[in-house]
Amino acid sequence: MNYNIAVIPGDGIGPEIVTEAIKVLDKIGEKYNHTFNYTEILMGGVSIDKHGVPLTDEALEVAKKSDSVLLGAVGGPKWDTLPGHLRPEKGLLGIRKGLELYANIRPAVLYSELRGACPLKDEIIGDGFDMIVVRELTGGLYFGEKKSLVEDGVRKAIDTLVYDENEIKRITITAFDIARKRTKKVYSVDKANVMESSRLWRSVVHEVAKDYPDIEVVDMLVDNAAMQLVRDPKQFDVILTENMFGDILSDEASMVTGSIGMLASASLGKTKLGLYEPSHGSAPDIAGLGVANPIATILSVSMMLRYSLDLDQAADDIDNAIKKVLQNGFRTGDIMSEGMKKVGTVEMGNLIVAQL
Ligand code: NAD
Repeated sequence: MNYNIAVIPGDGIGPEIVTEAIKVLDKIGEKYNHTFNYTEILMGGVSIDKHGVPLTDEALEVAKKSDSVLLGAVGGPKWDTLPGHLRPEKGLLGIRKGLELYANIRPAVLYSELRGACPLKDEIIGDGFDMIVVRELTGGLYFGEKKSLVEDGVRKAIDTLVYDENEIKRITITAFDIARKRTKKVYSVDKANVMESSRLWRSVVHEVAKDYPDIEVVDMLVDNAAMQLVRDPKQFDVILTENMFGDILSDEASMVTGSIGMLASASLGKTKLGLYEPSHGSAPDIAGLGVANPIATILSVSMMLRYSLDLDQAADDIDNAIKKVLQNGFRTGDIMSEGMKKVGTVEMGNLIVAQL
């Protein structure tokens, strides 16, 4: 098959880690007889420098016409003092909005080889854990009507949390489809004991569940979920939740893995076209030094193969190759521990390619 991939190297370590991810994708192409055609897009600081804006309409059009988008990271101190609408991160919001991506998918995997990085006790970690947070990305409290006012001399602020059933339905379908590729268990997190929007959330999730008899749904209140994530993270597989709860829980889930250079993410919409990127930023402090960990970006490629291109076997191959390289004791600086072999960005990419 032929696939058109839009590639956004971005700023800082972005170009270095994206180069390694493309090497891995090319190896998959060779192995399974697929051709990946790449079109590079400027976004973030590099786009500001060349075009005066973080994302041009033309760049967005290229992304829209692709089968999938791979992003490194954007931003850096050079552009930090620009006004809000010209900041590199605005490009990120622009592309998510332009591609109508309403589902943010963040896996939090603790590899047993990296258990030393996990801040939790050994008996809680067990053999490690592997969960995915599916967060609604375009509705809820962050997008509802906002107001600040003074009433009888007292300052007051109002944020509005609105969800309609269609928004809940589509994100639930995303979570259930992902669960079908995993252990078929979804934890739906809400605050249905006190919030009306959560009661609607819960009832829509269960309505959709009728079309997925193979999926088990567990309702969990968000305060309990926050506690369970540090008490017994192994119990979770797919966590489905609304925008603000997901914002908080996905950070908590990724923190318990301890390694930012290992965390991938995907943003999906109603078509197969998705945006795949590491969860970390552009790490300007190590840009150009050849020491950045490319694994989060390579895992993002694995997610792209799984969720946008339906190439599950190839995605499994990448996940297993990464595990093997870690088992063989190779580490970039950010995940280095005593007795392991330290490698740079390019060498880590080469080792993963070699395992494929
Ligand atoms: P960061 O994630 O870039 O870096 C935090 C720390 O983690 C740094 O010490 C960095 O060296 C390290 N780190 C991150 N990724 C690593 C990797 N792959 N390998 C090894 N070490 C790694 O976060 P920050 O410093 O808060 O932000 C830096 C810039 O990135 C800012 O301009 C910020 O706005 C931007 N940012 C962009 C995105 C994105 O593009 N999606 C996300 C977050 C931050």
